Amino acid sequence: MACLYCGDGTYLKNPDEVSRKLCAMVNKLKPDVVMCGPCFNYLNYGKMAARIAYDINQNTSSKAIAAMSDDNQETINEYKDKLCIIKTPKKGGIGLNESLEGMCVLAKALYQEKEIEEFKEKILFLGCCLASFLLGGKKMWGIIATWRMAVEGISEASHILQEKGDAGDAIETAIKAVEDFPYYKSVGYGGLPNEEMEVELDAAYMDGNTLSIGAVAAIKDFANPVSIARRLSKEKVNNILVGEGAEKFAHKEGFERKNMLTDRAKIHYRNRVKEVREQEIKPYAGHDTVGMVCLDQQGKMTSATSTSGLFMKKKGRVGDSPIAGSGFYVDSSVGGASATGLGEDLMKGCISYEIVRLMAEGMHPQAACEKAVNQLDHRLKERRGHAGDLSLIAMNNKGEWGVATNIEGFSFAVATENQEPIVYLTKNKDGKCIHEVASQEWLDHYMKTRMAPLEEK
Ligand code: ASP
Repeated sequence: MACLYCGDGTYLKNPDEVSRKLCAMVNKLKPDVVMCGPCFNYLNYGKMAARIAYDINQNTSSKAIAAMSDDNQETINEYKDKLCIIKTPKKGGIGLNESLEGMCVLAKALYQEKEIEEFKEKILFLGCCLASFLLGGKKMWGIIATWRMAVEGISEASHILQEKGDAGDAIETAIKAVEDFPYYKSVGYGGLPNEEMEVELDAAYMDGNTLSIGAVAAIKDFANPVSIARRLSKEKVNNILVGEGAEKFAHKEGFERKNMLTDRAKIHYRNRVKEVREQEIKPYAGHDTVGMVCLDQQGKMTSATSTSGLFMKKKGRVGDSPIAGSGFYVDSSVGGASATGLGEDLMKGCISYEIVRLMAEGMHPQAACEKAVNQLDHRLKERRGHAGDLSLIAMNNKGEWGVATNIEGFSFAVATENQEPIVYLTKNKDGKCIHEVASQEWLDHYMKTRMAPLEEK
C-alpha cells in the first residue's frame, strides 16, 4: 500500500484513544506513508491532524505527514520543526469533494519529482473518518479448507497472508503441512493405500489469476504431490501427469522421494482386509481430501487439493481431486471452490466449477455452495437412487466464504483478515447448512482418536 489517509471525522471526540487505535492500525498495515488531514475548515482539525501525525511518527515505522490550510497557523508554528506539514490547496482543508485532488497534491508534494497522475492509482483513499479508515483500510485475505486436519496448515498460511505473501505460497505451505503429518490417513504421508497396498496420491493446484492448472494423479513415493502439481501448473502443456509419468517428472525436477506407506497405514490395510472378509464392510469407507481456496492481499486467488483418494481403490483409480472443475476451481475475478467426498459423484456435477459459476452470477459463496450441493444431491438420488458424500468449501474474492454438505458433521477450517483460524462443524438441515464452532472437547477427541495406538485385529 503506498499510503493511507486518516481524515478528521472522529479526531475530536477522544484524541488519545483515536491516536492509539490509529497507531496500532498503522503498525499492522505498515503503509509507507500516512497522510493526516482535515476535510473542513475547522482549526481544531488541523491541530488534531498534526498531533496524530506526530504520534504515528513516534510509534510506528511509517512516515506520517500532516496536511492543513494556512488558517491553522498556530498549529503550523507549533509543529513546523517536528513534522512535515503540507499546506492544502483549499482554504480550510482537503475538502470532502476534492479529496482525491487534495490527495494528489499531497502525493506530489511527497514525491516531488513525479507527476500527480502517476499517483492517482497508487493512493488508497480511505475516506474522511476513522470508521471508514478502520473498515476500508484493511486489505482482505483469507483461506478456507476442508476438514479439521487443515487447521494447522491454514494457521501457517495465515501468517504468510498477513505479511502480504502470495496466495500460491500460502496454499502450498498449508497443504504440505497436511501431507507431512503422518497421522492424517487420507492425505500424503500416512495416507491409506489402494487394493494392492500401495499409496497412490492425487493432487492439484490452480492459479486464479492466470487460470493455470497443474495436477498429478496416482503418483507414488513422493513427499509433496501438491508441490509437483504447482510446478506442473507453470508448464505450457503436459499439465496433468499420472502414475509413472508424474513420477519421472518429479524425479527430474528434484522433488523429494519418500516411501509414503507407514506402518500404521499397513495395519489399517490389514484390518480392513479382515473386516471386508468377515463383515462385508464397504472397502471404500474412510477417505478425506484436503481442498483449499486462498485469497491474498494482492487479490490473487488459488485453489489446491491433495488426497490418497478412496481407501482400497483400484490401482490407477483417479478421483475428482486432480480434476479441474470437479475437485477444485478458482478465478481471481470471482472466487474459488474445492470438494471432498465421493469423487465419482462429485465429478457428475463438475461441482466446484458450478459453485464458481453461481458466484459469478452474484451469489454469496454460502448460497452458491448450498444450491450446488442440494441440486447435485437431489439429481443423483433422482437418477441413481442414492448420492455419495458431497462436501464443498468456497470463498469469493472479497474473502466471504461458504460451505455446504450432504453429510452429518462435516468439519472445515477457515482464517481471514477478520478471523483467527477456526474449525467449524456443519450439517445440512432441509437444504440449509448450519455451521457451529467445534468445541474444545470435539477438537481434543479428534486428535486423540487420530493418534491413538492402533492394534492389528
Ligand atoms: N474426493 C476424494 C476422491 O474421491 C476422496 C475424498 O475427498 O474423500 O478421491
